[in-house]
Amino acid sequence: PTKSTNYSISKVRVIVRVRPFLFHEISGKNDDPKPCISVLDQECESSCEEVAVYLKDKDTSRNECYRLDSFFGQEDNNVSQIFYREVSPLIPGIFRGYNATVFAYGATGSGKTYTMQGTDEDPGLMPMAMSTILTMCQSTGSTAEISYYEVYMDRCYDLLELKGKEIAVLDDKNGQIHLRGLSQVPVKSMYEFYETFSCGIQRRKVAHTGLNDVSSRSHRVLVIAVSTPCGDGSEAVVTGKLNLIDLAGNEDNRRTCNEGIRLLESAKINQSLFALSNVIYALNNNKTRVPYRESKLTRILQDSLGGTSRALMVACLNPGEYQESVHTVSLAARSRHV
Ligand code: ADP
Ligand code: MG
Repeated sequence: PTKSTNYSISKVRVIVRVRPFLFHEISGKNDDPKPCISVLDQECESSCEEVAVYLKDKDTSRNECYRLDSFFGQEDNNVSQIFYREVSPLIPGIFRGYNATVFAYGATGSGKTYTMQGTDEDPGLMPMAMSTILTMCQSTGSTAEISYYEVYMDRCYDLLELKGKEIAVLDDKNGQIHLRGLSQVPVKSMYEFYETFSCGIQRRKVAHTGLNDVSSRSHRVLVIAVSTPCGDGSEAVVTGKLNLIDLAGNEDNRRTCNEGIRLLESAKINQSLFALSNVIYALNNNKTRVPYRESKLTRILQDSLGGTSRALMVACLNPGEYQESVHTVSLAARSRHV
């Protein structure tokens, strides 16, 4: 089938990943629990056109259906399917100077970090992308550098810098965004990547005074920047970057009883996720005005969303959480074209 036009219609692809039930969610139950999320029409799934994602609450029989670009269910329990079908097509463009962005989106516990970082046994999209890029660097003579930063309460912190230094976000005369002084670390091997990245992961927890684990309440961005010789005999290079983003959990404030700093945090998170979905909606629907300036995250990503950039949003779902999944999928579906 001729389905390759999909990218030009929907500039930001929005796909779903349902994680498996975890051991403690199954143990002690008589039957295996049934996921509350399924896909209607498996035909569509393999042709990589639109899919209809169906959510049904087993307790109340309420149900909802949303159209998205692709669906990866519990049986696709390895992230490499998502990588090869959805992320690896974005990589050759990086070597020609284009930017791309991959987001993991969803509630806390839905598998965002697992999808992006993964584990030693099941590496996520971040290490898989790094490894593919390093291999391509060898044949093209390109070089790769990584940055890793966090956006928390609309402030940006360098995670590759001791103490998670705050980074100023500046606009230059040409409207380009700069993260002043953000560390960029050259990476030549997966060993070097893990060495640098693991330090950054450790740093996350200590970046903010007083608060211990903010990891699910901040957006974490790994940038892999690739410089490729132009090949015209000169010293000139083209630079493209891949942003891999583990977004803050999109909790539903009506369901969580947040107070004080948590409420403030969660208001900021919801505001920035809403701003992100507005930007994606505007891009996918060819709106002339794209509201990048409505949050720090969308402002920073301005050069990597829209224009010649490509993007992918992975909506992560917990198979046992109906209401939470509806919350995630409805916002994800809303960002798509209509
Ligand atoms: P989030 O980052 O969205 O809060 P996590 O990635 O931390 O969620 O995942 C929550 C739990 O589910 C973790 O214990 C993680 O190991 C597990 N998990 C998530 N996705 C998968 C998966 N695809 N396969 C196996 N376990 C998973
Ligand atoms: Mg997480």
